[in-house]
Amino acid sequence: MHTFEFVRPADQTAAIATAAQSKTAQQGADVRFLGGGTTLIDLMKLNVETPARVLDINRLPLDKIEATSDGGAKIGALVRNSDLANHAKIQKDYSVLSQALLQGASAQIRNMATVGGNLLQRTRCAYFRDTALVCNKREPGSGCPAITGHNRTLAILGASEHCIATNPSDMCVALAALEATVHVQGPKGSRAVAFGDFHLLPGTTPHRETVLEPGDLVTHVTLPPPIAGSKQLYLKLRDRASYEFALASTALVLTIASGKVTRARIALGGVGTKPWRSSEAEAALSGKPATDAIFRQAAEAALRDAKPQSENKFKIELAKRCMVHALRMATAS
Ligand SMILES: Cc1cc2nc3c(=O)[nH]c(=O)nc-3n(C[C@H](O)[C@H](O)[C@H](O)COP(=O)(O)OP(=O)(O)OC[C@H]3O[C@@H](n4cnc5c(N)ncnc54)[C@H](O)[C@@H]3O)c2cc1C
Ligand code: SF4
Repeated sequence: MHTFEFVRPADQTAAIATAAQSKTAQQGADVRFLGGGTTLIDLMKLNVETPARVLDINRLPLDKIEATSDGGAKIGALVRNSDLANHAKIQKDYSVLSQALLQGASAQIRNMATVGGNLLQRTRCAYFRDTALVCNKREPGSGCPAITGHNRTLAILGASEHCIATNPSDMCVALAALEATVHVQGPKGSRAVAFGDFHLLPGTTPHRETVLEPGDLVTHVTLPPPIAGSKQLYLKLRDRASYEFALASTALVLTIASGKVTRARIALGGVGTKPWRSSEAEAALSGKPATDAIFRQAAEAALRDAKPQSENKFKIELAKRCMVHALRMATAS
């Protein structure tokens, strides 16, 4: 039995205090905030998530996209994915984010899905979503049938012997390349978390996916000032052209001068247990000529530590080609 409650703007602090009574902010939380519901309600229907209380935060004033004083952007946690993708400043200064969002899900889902919910969307691993089967992420210590079972779409970077699930978000791959910051309000006050520190590797605790603690409400995300003249691109490879999660994707923010890469920020999607920023690829590109040979070296560096499962060895080459092709496309004009 679940109760659904609306949170009025005046009750934001009280709602955080209520959620803080939960034993965890991770899998199995007793109290959940509700954004667009496109992940949470699905998982409640499947009995994967069974919160006693659902706090609907849609009335909170967290739905604005604003320019910050340093020229960056502040994006409220309740901004819908479609509004973010189509916002003039985002399209102009952070086009990789707009592109990533528009390649995710469907128009209807993007109209509902919020930035906060997208940050916290759960893996699409089939075993996680089926309560008839065991899963370490759902029930710690129960086992990971994906390792010996169907794992074609699962991770090749960042996996552990306890979980090999992929982070499915497109938006988060762009936010990793843009070096975003996630802002959280919790029972002890507000804090800012660098994007790369927000999601956790599965390690021995795959049920723990982010640094959020009980009561933590994501309030907004900030983006640093745009990089003048940068080339930005999101390339997503998947089994069908729309309404499908990535098998491999690449988000790029590149600066080129006199034929050389002067600055590179690169993240990969569809292959990691978290949105995967590749410092290896960035280092391989930095200061080097923007040529196919260098692009391939960067891709080799990014996937050097990849460990395939029984069904997804193909992802290593796919992810490399995805990155090379994205680099080619971004530098072609
Ligand atoms: C059929 C289908 C196809 C999809 N395809 C793609 C795809 O190709 N690419 C892609 O990236 N995504 C895809 N998605 C996932 C979709 O992007 C997510 O479901 C969506 O972004 C989640 O946002 P939401 O607001 O609906 O989250 P909700 O369901 O409301 O919430 C998700 C989680 O976040 C928590 N939460 C929400 N807001 C906050 C907050 N402000 N603070 C703290 N906690 C919060 C909730 O408690 C819940 O645990 C797909 C989804 C579906 C159903
Ligand atoms: S990969 Fe992770 S989510 Fe999937 S069955 Fe294993 S533990 Fe569960």
